[in-house]
Amino acid sequence: MEKIISLCKQRGFIYPGSEIYGGLQNSWDYGPLGVELKNNIKNLWWQRFVSSRDDIVGIDAALIMNPKVWEASGHISEFNDPLVECKKCHERFRADHLEKNKCLNCGGEITESKQFNMMFRTYLGPVDDGENQVYLRPETAQAIFVDFKNVLQTSRQTLPFGIAQMGKAFRNEITPGNFIFRTREFEQMEIEYFIKEEDWEKHFDKWAKEMHEWIQSVGIDKKKIHELDVPKDELAHYSKKTIDFEFDFPFGRDELYGLAYRTDFDLKNHEKNSGENTKYRDQESGEEFWPHVIEPSLGVDRTVLAVLCSAYHEEDDRVVLKLKPEIAPYKAAVFPLMRNKPELVELAQKIYKDLREKFVIAWDDRGNIGKRYYSQDQIGTPFCITIDFDSLDDDTVTVRDRDSMKQERISIAELEAYLRDKSQYLSTSIYVQTN
Ligand code: ATP
Repeated sequence: MEKIISLCKQRGFIYPGSEIYGGLQNSWDYGPLGVELKNNIKNLWWQRFVSSRDDIVGIDAALIMNPKVWEASGHISEFNDPLVECKKCHERFRADHLEKNKCLNCGGEITESKQFNMMFRTYLGPVDDGENQVYLRPETAQAIFVDFKNVLQTSRQTLPFGIAQMGKAFRNEITPGNFIFRTREFEQMEIEYFIKEEDWEKHFDKWAKEMHEWIQSVGIDKKKIHELDVPKDELAHYSKKTIDFEFDFPFGRDELYGLAYRTDFDLKNHEKNSGENTKYRDQESGEEFWPHVIEPSLGVDRTVLAVLCSAYHEEDDRVVLKLKPEIAPYKAAVFPLMRNKPELVELAQKIYKDLREKFVIAWDDRGNIGKRYYSQDQIGTPFCITIDFDSLDDDTVTVRDRDSMKQERISIAELEAYLRDKSQYLSTSIYVQTN
């Protein structure tokens, strides 16, 4: 883990947040390469589950919602973690994170646990009184239920169908930690898939399969994935069945994603609390009812971490991130063999600029070729393109593959098609920028 954190910092994937002020309790900022990687992952998810499917549509809702939403959803009364405090050093912990009933810091005795609500509070407008109190959303899911009726009316979907959203969520975690695994501000990618009650098991199994396929497509090591059927007494207040998809992180096995059967809990409660009809009307029978819901819930940051842990390899004299080309920050790097030969630099610059219009591409003319390969391997660039003296005569370049380290000559005219084919490049235009 230390090696991954250090690589992330050195190479511009992820830095400690507010670092020049001493940081801020496990907050992290994505740097130039980190934001490319994260956007590519979000892009892949959106493409796979929204743009390429007829049965799922997306939304991008406001982060701060009417506080009545959180009353209806049960978050105000139920979204608690058990908080304990050390009687000696006053360090606070989540009771269910302690194996023995002792302080992790000094071994001291701990207090009885009390319920701590994890929602962040703030207020709307200039007056800070109880009346204006609002919450930062603790999950992206809830807006999907609140917007259900609007989406239904405007998208002509019929059951079964899904609504997807990705974006920031906030939880005032008692003990954030393990790098980007548990933070107080993170991103989620969630789908609420609306179904008929009697079909829930069929759709639950289908979504479990879809999650395994996603895990493989994004480049997470499937040997490190384990399904945990969450025991009944540990289920969230809205769930009848949940499977946690756990991953063997360097610090231990822990939750990567959740798949929950949320029943009709949310739509029903929103109707009760808002007084608005949130039911679905079957076109053929005219019957009105609340659809039931299967929810695949994915953390973006935990995906980034699992992807990095799966991709990180130390081989002989190199460190290599074997990222899937689809999500690698750079699709390729372009090098002139020597930086002091203007004719090589000129041709290399031309190729670089042409490719840069289509892909995210790196340029490097420092040091020797070996050092440049080393540097690109470390950040997971799948292909390195070298322009040498032969290129000037025969319009070909050397393309070196990151994983096999094999080199082949490719004609300059074919480079774009080559990269597109090898990296299954997704157009950035399909990426929907969310908060
Ligand atoms: P945990 O048990 O680890 O606290 P949870 O069961 O409360 O997680 P969910 O409410 O199911 O998590 O949230 C769905 C997904 O959102 C999680 O599977 C995870 O990927 C992500 N997630 C939840 N909390 C955090 C957090 N504090 N930091 C980063 N990602 C998170």
